[in-house]
Order: sequence, then structure tokens, then C-alpha cells
Amino acid sequence: MEILRDETPAIHFAGVDKRFGDTTVLRGLDFSVRKGDRVTLIGPSGSGKTTILRLVMTLEEANGGYIYIDGKPLTHHEVGGKRVALKEKHRGEMRKRIGMVFQQFNLFPNMTVLENIIEAPVHVLGVPKAAARAKAHELLAKVGLPDKADAHPSQLSGGQQQRVAIARALAMDPEILLLDEVTSALDPEVVGEVLGILTDIARDTDVTMLIVTHELQFAREVSNRVLMFDGGAIVEEGPPEELFASPQEERTKEFLSAVL
Ligand code: ADP
Repeated sequence: MEILRDETPAIHFAGVDKRFGDTTVLRGLDFSVRKGDRVTLIGPSGSGKTTILRLVMTLEEANGGYIYIDGKPLTHHEVGGKRVALKEKHRGEMRKRIGMVFQQFNLFPNMTVLENIIEAPVHVLGVPKAAARAKAHELLAKVGLPDKADAHPSQLSGGQQQRVAIARALAMDPEILLLDEVTSALDPEVVGEVLGILTDIARDTDVTMLIVTHELQFAREVSNRVLMFDGGAIVEEGPPEELFASPQEERTKEFLSAVL
């Protein structure tokens, strides 16, 4: 029997332009991420990787082109050949399907760990508080912090804060998880534990992941596809074991030899 697969990409960029003032960061960018893919974006600083994640999270808005999430337009759609902005209500609905973990954790400092995790499920998704709390405790156990529910972020180490941020993103049951340099602000000795948790999540779930990292070992373990960016364009792509072992493009070779 033929197995029917849903081939609608989880994320699809079609001719996306992004500028900041006079700086063009992305020009006509096209790429897709299939459902369940774990895609790592690599490339020199300033090449537009974080901007791509922020566009998917609707923290930035593209100046041209279209972004589709599971086949649905994210912020703009085409009507009679014109690019038309979608309403905030639609964007909010789309945003619910996406989770993001940031370099600087971005926890709410005035809330406890538990409150941080249940905030969006309760207020955005309307999950009953008791159910949200039960799930938060489960997630805290998963990230190895079962006894930190009542702590405040300032009482936690950077690695612990990042683990809470991961639990908070997962509490929304996202279809897509965006990871933006999640270990860059951490002390070297705790990088491994955070990456280990993310590796487990990648193994145990089918969440689509779009990852920006300089941790090539992590990229190799977690991702099935790596996109090398430079100047806001994809220079080269492939499975990590191929791209890292035998890059074809000069710019990829240079980048890899600089970070390895
Ligand atoms: P990367 O993640 O690859 O290091 P970024 O996406 O962070 O690259 O940045 C791409 C370019 O966009 C850089 O030149 C950066 O300075 C610029 N940029 C990013 N965010 C802003 C912003 N909010 N305002 C102005 N310029 C920005």
C-alpha cells in the first residue's frame, strides 16, 4: 500500500525581501522546510540567519515576498496580484503554532518558573490552569528541573534559565520550534546539557526545527539538512555529514575552517 505523505512544507519562503533602512538583508529568498525536518542555518555573522527566524516568529515583517506556514500565508497574501497584509488576529493564530528559544532566554523576570511556562498556554491558548500546571511540571522534569517550579529566573544559572525557556516554548505544543543561538550566552560547561535536552526533544518528537547555531557537532547530531548562508542567500546546502565533510563552495570551506 502506498503511504500518503503530506508534502505541504512546514515553512516556505517565496521571494522574501527584508531590509533594515538602507541595508538589504534578504533579497528574493526562496527556501522550504519539510514537516519534521531539522534544518540548521550556518554562515558568517550578519548573513541574515536570525532575521529569518524572527520573520517566521513575526517579530519582523518582510518588505516583499511571502512566507507560508503549513501552506497558509503568515503575514501577507496575494490578492489580484497585490501583496496584502493579513490582520493581526490571523498573525496571532499563526504565531500559536510556532515556538522560539532565544540566545538571551527572555524569561519574564517578575514571574516564577511555573508562571513563565503556563503564561502563554493559559492566556493565549485558553488551557485551564490546572492542566497547564500539570504539563509545566512534566516539562520541567523533562528538562531536568523538577524542583525549580517556584524559583524566579534570577535564582537560576544561565543553563537552567535556558532549560526553562525550552520548557516554555514546548508548553505551547508548537509545530515549529525556532532555536536562535541558544547556547551562545552560556558558560561552556553547561552548553552540553542544553544541547543534550534539545537532542532528546528532536529524537522524541516530530516537531519541525529551524536552528541557528555555531555548534557544528549539535547541528550534525540533530539536523538532517544544513543551509549555508552568506549575504542573505543560500550558498550551499546538504545533509550535515556531507556538507561538513566535503563542502563544495569556497565560502562554505572558509566558514567551516574558521569555526571548526
Ligand atoms: P546573523 O543572524 O546571520 O548574524 P542577522 O539576521 O542578525 O544575521 O543580521 C543580518 C543583518 O541585518 C546585519 O547586517 C544586521 O546588522 C542587520 N540587522 C538585524 N536586525 C536589525 C535591526 N533591528 N535593525 C537594523 N539592522 C538590523
